Amino acid sequence: MTNRRDFLRTSLLASAGIPLIPSCGLAVPMMNRKGGKKRMKLSFFPYELKLRHVFTVATYSRSTTPDIQVELEYDGVTGYGEASMPPYLAKELGTVDSVMEFLGRVARRLQDFSDPFQMEDILGAIDQMDEGNAAGKAAVDIALHDLVGKIMKQPWYRIWGLNPALTPSTTFTIGIDTADVVRQKTRECADRFNILKVKVGLDNDKEMISTIREVTNLPIAVDANQGWKDRQQALDMIFWLKEQGIVMVEQPMPKEQLDDIAWVTEHSPLPVFADESIQRLKDVEGLKGAFTGINIKLMKCTGMREAWKMLNTARALGMKVMVGCMTETSCAVSAAAQLSPAVDFADLDGNLLISNDRFSGVEVVGGKLTLPDRPGIGLKDK
Ligand SMILES: [Mg+2]
Repeated sequence: MTNRRDFLRTSLLASAGIPLIPSCGLAVPMMNRKGGKKRMKLSFFPYELKLRHVFTVATYSRSTTPDIQVELEYDGVTGYGEASMPPYLAKELGTVDSVMEFLGRVARRLQDFSDPFQMEDILGAIDQMDEGNAAGKAAVDIALHDLVGKIMKQPWYRIWGLNPALTPSTTFTIGIDTADVVRQKTRECADRFNILKVKVGLDNDKEMISTIREVTNLPIAVDANQGWKDRQQALDMIFWLKEQGIVMVEQPMPKEQLDDIAWVTEHSPLPVFADESIQRLKDVEGLKGAFTGINIKLMKCTGMREAWKMLNTARALGMKVMVGCMTETSCAVSAAAQLSPAVDFADLDGNLLISNDRFSGVEVVGGKLTLPDRPGIGLKDK
């Protein structure tokens, strides 16, 4: 497998080096010391994430997550990016095969650009190349942000003007399991986190919450993952949850039932956030009134640049914002965390769920996200 990866990496790098005719334009290309145009060089390789615990949802279990690691080199500086592709989101995010193929084309397309600071042009052109493969686009976006931040010698939260002291606590997910296991897991994390997250929308919602309440009174965020089908039942459950110290609800009903969701949100005593109902910037405005807020995930929205636009659009519409993630290394999680001083809730525990993280980056200290004072997205080798 290693040989195959090395082969893929080498062959793709080689193909990326094929000189193409630069697009016409007035921009003056940046020159290197020898007088040639400087170019960005993209390399990438599959990297399977190993989960610490088997991940189980109603339809399947899995112990790994498909992932691709990306490096973008320019003038001796390297930016890191990542595509995480949980199989249940293959349609939106892509698969290892589709993203590897896409990144091969991106590597060649990057030869048309000589200035990494022209992020709008670069990422706009990459977005136009393909309808899907959002995770592949996010990987390049994250690597470009890391690269540009490193050239500027500043972290992105500072470039965006955000105060790192204002990061929220991250939620930590307690998986659905038997009462004994849930009690044990809750005990293990109750003193490391300030807010928990629980998946609901199944038959045993009240049992799960009551079991956790036997152990801790920490605030809890719940994610129904579209699981409630009837709006009155959803609302009744939300009122019950409010009495149990739940502080927010994610995606109470199927995305196709937007009118029902709007009715639930209108009557809900808790804020209601969109997840499955939203992917990208273009979706934000249509959700005003139907949800209290949106959950922004880099893999779905194509990366940091669009995430920042979504955050500001949601604020302009008077909506709340949370930032979430997939199972990812500290690379993509630290990229998302750059936004976190500006959000209402953060669900950034994806790197804590894997055993083969390649990096250190954002850390959880006393339950709170703690941003590193390092440029770009703030990574260092493990
Ligand atoms: Mg969710």
